[in-house]
Amino acid sequence: MLSFYPGPSKVHPEVLGFIQEAFSNGVVSINHRSERFEILLKDTLQVLHEKWNIPQDYTLYFISSATEAWEIVAQSLVEEKCLHLYNGAFGKKWAHYAQQIIPNAVSFEFGLNEDLKSVTSSFGTKGFDTICLVQSETSNGTGQNICRSDFNLNEDAIIAVDATSTLGGINLPWLEADVWFASVQKCMGIPAGLGVLICSPKALKRATKLNKKVHYNDILLMEENRKLFQTHYTPNVLSIYVLNKMAHLLPNLTEINQQTNEKAKLLTDFFSQTNSFNLSFLVENPWVRLPTVFALRGEAVQIKKLQDLCSKNNIELGKGYGSWKEHTIRIANFPSHTLEDFSHLLNLIKS
Ligand SMILES: *Cc1c(COP(=O)(O)O)cnc(C)c1O
Repeated sequence: MLSFYPGPSKVHPEVLGFIQEAFSNGVVSINHRSERFEILLKDTLQVLHEKWNIPQDYTLYFISSATEAWEIVAQSLVEEKCLHLYNGAFGKKWAHYAQQIIPNAVSFEFGLNEDLKSVTSSFGTKGFDTICLVQSETSNGTGQNICRSDFNLNEDAIIAVDATSTLGGINLPWLEADVWFASVQKCMGIPAGLGVLICSPKALKRATKLNKKVHYNDILLMEENRKLFQTHYTPNVLSIYVLNKMAHLLPNLTEINQQTNEKAKLLTDFFSQTNSFNLSFLVENPWVRLPTVFALRGEAVQIKKLQDLCSKNNIELGKGYGSWKEHTIRIANFPSHTLEDFSHLLNLIKS
């Protein structure tokens, strides 16, 4: 089966070999306080920093998922008042869970075709110590440009960004935010069960100031372990191993970004021209369309016909999310998806 679901999605084919290798060399049985693990973690942090062009003074942690990161931000970093700006289901859920931890949390839902810059020109952001944003809203295929100067913030305010369906697929402007996170089953192209959290020195400074060490996954406890090249609990060592091997194998993110854009252009051109199934872009404003998740709208009958055609041909498309369920499909354009995969799909849609 070929999956274009926006996560879990197609896994890089090389992953199978790395899983087998981890079995035969015993990595699947190592203890997370062993020297062998420390060497693996140290190398993984190094190769990801290098391949993803992460600033040297930003630190990287392994957690269980992006969802876990929502709570980590609220528990370890928000001082008194956070602001959640979102336009889709993932941002809304993040705001909901944050509100259970931070009663002062404020959320604001903006429109599908709006960009953050225009939202912040009408919505004051002063007085919030933490701004929570979704760079890649997988549920509707919108993507935001993250830019610190779009916000009117106090000197020590921090910005936290959910980049779950772009991290590993496009270059991200690391310096424009203090916390970035994602799960591995989207652009990283490996099986689900691991998350990545990246923090700026300013985020660590905030964590140090608040000095929270009450949750097992508070950032300060993760940082103490990272310094020893260990983790705060027994992590998904198999996934860390596979991610390490894939990072060594794949080119620099700048090159991956180019490939993502080429494939995105192919899809954009195709769906702008085709009349098949009467599809149109769910997101009309091209500036806020994600290159990694395409959401297309159509009549329920046509959507069902297309889904059926694809399943008959062993291809899985993403369903619409929430209220868009019946009227949209989503197609992932992750690094694991090749040009051949797309010609296969587009030929089928054309036929
Ligand atoms: C998939 C996704 C999540 C949730 O990821 P989990 O691995 O299920 O925790 C969160 N945010 C966004 C934007 C996503 O696409």
